[in-house]
Amino acid sequence: MIIAIDGPSGAGKSTLSRQLAERLRYAYIDTGAMYRCVALAAHREGISPEDTTDLQALCDRIRIRFEPCEEGQRVYLNAEDVSRAIRTPENSMRTSRISAEPVVREAMVQQQRDMGKEGGVVLDGRDIGSVVFPHAEVKLFLTASAEERGRRRYDELRAKGQNVDLQTTIAEVESRDAADSSRSHSPLIQPEGAEVIDSTGMSIEEVLQSMLEAVGKAEAVQ
Ligand code: C5P
Repeated sequence: MIIAIDGPSGAGKSTLSRQLAERLRYAYIDTGAMYRCVALAAHREGISPEDTTDLQALCDRIRIRFEPCEEGQRVYLNAEDVSRAIRTPENSMRTSRISAEPVVREAMVQQQRDMGKEGGVVLDGRDIGSVVFPHAEVKLFLTASAEERGRRRYDELRAKGQNVDLQTTIAEVESRDAADSSRSHSPLIQPEGAEVIDSTGMSIEEVLQSMLEAVGKAEAVQ
């Protein structure tokens, strides 16, 4: 099956998608990491979001790979491990801007379809159930209150040793959601047919159980 998980920033998508994939022995594709790699590579090469031709060439040229490790997954941009570099607050804001560009979206969506076409895969992002795999057997929309999502992102960044403050992190999460939801190309939406899971006040294990139940229901109708 293809399992599509969408939702706003900080809703716990990547942690839960990874755990769900582990339980099911599926592959996990973190599509946000792919857009983050494009933003990092464009920044390093001095390509601005308006330089459509250069951006397209960049997307064709770079190679993004995932490798499992103890903490989850490492992300490689060409031969470099960029797992940390792509997750700084600066690169998060750049990603939101660059991922609105149609040339970038078309290139990434194509790669995601190629990676997931055989099934046995969990993908998380903003447009998986609406654009990348609209016929996915399982579609989930994972959300939580803005306050809680900001706090989770703050805890995550702090744990990685980044010196951020809570109010700024909440404001950044909200601003990224506003940009992701209002862009004209593939905005963040609740895909048709998606089951909504609001994880506010829920533990990771509780959310995971809800997700497994949704998978079980889909398996039953296969
Ligand atoms: O999921 P994550 O927070 O890592 O995503 C980073 C950014 O990448 C999002 O804020 C969004 O702008 C973009 N993104 C996207 N479509 C996806 C996944 C992520 O536009 N499928």
